[in-house]
Amino acid sequence: MAVPKKKVSKSKRDMRRSHHALGKSNPNECPNCGELKLPHHVCTSCGHYDGRDVVETEAV
Ligand SMILES: [Zn+2]
Repeated sequence: MAVPKKKVSKSKRDMRRSHHALGKSNPNECPNCGELKLPHHVCTSCGHYDGRDVVETEAV
């Protein structure tokens, strides 16, 4: 039920927000270089995604 903003105490508001923290990220190993990468993201260290090089990276 909608409640006017001024009627909700700081305590009640903050209790609601106690569940708003971001969850942990879930890193996976890159199959190309073995660095940790985010799922469904291009690898930040080698630029590979889905078995191919999609982003130019500096030669290490
Ligand atoms: Zn990689």
